[in-house]
Amino acid sequence: MQKNIICVACPMGCAVTVEIAENGDILSVTGNTCKRGDAYARAECTNPVRSLATTVKVNGGIHNVVPCKSAGSLPKDKIMECMKIINAAQAEAPVSLGDVLVSNILDTGVDIVATNHCPAK
Ligand code: SF4
Repeated sequence: MQKNIICVACPMGCAVTVEIAENGDILSVTGNTCKRGDAYARAECTNPVRSLATTVKVNGGIHNVVPCKSAGSLPKDKIMECMKIINAAQAEAPVSLGDVLVSNILDTGVDIVATNHCPAK
């Protein structure tokens, strides 16, 4: 099987082709112009992960929401489930940059943390 992906490890965006055996082994990676692209393509085909950046609702703050991000990479197939949890979460003002808004989301070991302040009203 052949999988064509765009490497997003840097802005070059190289088109990378991965040959995958029936048992899932990676036979070859071509089209990448550096080692990072090889590593990215292999990870994308075996254990794809994504970072998440979104907002969490804030009660009693000068803003209704505070921006947040995952403190690490999350499994790609759990992103939608993570978003449901984050959308249902609520923080109480004041929120400080770095505050953990959702701890160990979906038992991934990754926290969702505030990326800005939200003072109380
Ligand atoms: S293969 Fe290397 S140069 Fe190309 S996009 Fe990926 S990291 Fe950038």
